[in-house]
Amino acid sequence: MSGIILDGKKLAREMEAQLAERVRGLLAQTGGKTPTLATVLVGDDPASAVYVRMKRNACRRIGMQSRRVELPQKTRTEELLEAIGRLNDDTDVHGILLQHPVPPQVDERRCFDAIRPDKDVDGVTCHGFGRMAMGEQAYGSATPAGIMRLLEHHGIRIEGRRAVVVGRSPILGKPMAMMLLNDHATVTICHSRTTHLPDIVRQADLVVGAVGKPQFIRGDWIAESAVVVDAGYHEGGIGDIELAGVIDRCAAYTPVPGGVGPMTIATLMAQTLTAAEAALFVGAT
Ligand code: NAP
Repeated sequence: MSGIILDGKKLAREMEAQLAERVRGLLAQTGGKTPTLATVLVGDDPASAVYVRMKRNACRRIGMQSRRVELPQKTRTEELLEAIGRLNDDTDVHGILLQHPVPPQVDERRCFDAIRPDKDVDGVTCHGFGRMAMGEQAYGSATPAGIMRLLEHHGIRIEGRRAVVVGRSPILGKPMAMMLLNDHATVTICHSRTTHLPDIVRQADLVVGAVGKPQFIRGDWIAESAVVVDAGYHEGGIGDIELAGVIDRCAAYTPVPGGVGPMTIATLMAQTLTAAEAALFVGAT
C-alpha cells in the first residue's frame, strides 16, 4: 500500500486563498494599508534569486506588496546591517526576509539578528529561535514551521514518536528538531559527524531529510511505515531522500517537488500577514 502523499502544493494553495481573504479584510479595515514583505537578496546566486522571485510572486498572488532590496556580491556586513536597519525603521514594511545564503564575507548571523523581532517573519533570529524553543510565541523558521503545518493538516501524530532529523542548520534542522520536541516527539539530530547514520535512521517513526545532498538518505535506511519528510530539492526534481522504493511501504511522504517547498512560502506569507495585522491594528488604536 502506498503512503499518503503530504501534498504541500495543495495545502499551500488553500492557505493562499485564505490569506488573500484576510488581506482583503485588512485593506478594508485600515483604509488600504497593504501588508508588505521586504526581500533582501545579496549577491548573484541564481538559486537564491529564484527563491526570492517565488516569494515576491506569492505576495502578489495574495494581494500583499513586496519591497525588493538587492545588494551586490561585494556587499560588506556593515552595508547589509544599514539596509536592514532602514527596513526595521520603515513603518510601511511589516516583515523582512534576508535570503540565505549571503556571500562569505558577510556575517550572516549578525545580519539575521539585526532584524527586529516583530519583523522576523522568516524566523531567523536567535531571539525568535530561543522563544520558539521555549514554547513562547514567535514566528518559527518558515521551512520547519511549514512542515509542522503540513503534518498537522494530515493528522500525523507526533507525540511519543521517534523522530530523526538529518541536518542541524540554524534555519532548518535545528528549529525542526525543537518543533518536533515541543510536540512531544523523542528527537535525534544527526549531522556530518554522526556515526552509524543508517542505523539511527532505521529506528525512526518520522524522518526529516535536511542534508542538502541529492538522495543522500537511502531508501533502505527507512523503516516500514515511517513518515518521510524530504526538505531537499535538487536539479532533476529529486530531494535529499531516495524516495523510490519508500513510497510503497511508508505511512506518508512529502513529494519532491510539491511537498515542503510550497509550504515554506505559504508559511512566510502567513507570518508576514500576521505581523502586518499586529502592526496595523496596534498602529490604528
Ligand atoms: P545546510 O546549511 O547545508 O545544512 C546541511 C546539514 O546537513 C548540516 O547540518 C550538515 O552537518 C548536515 N550534513 C552534511 N553532510 C552530512 C552527512 N554526510 N551526514 C549527515 N549530515 C550531514 O543546508 P540547509 O540550509 O539546512 O538545507 C538542507 C536542505 O534543505 C537542502 O537540500 C536545501 O535545498 C533544502 N531547503 C529547502 C527549503 C525549502 O523551502 N524547501 C528551505 C531551506 C533548505 P554539519 O552541521 O555537521 O555540517
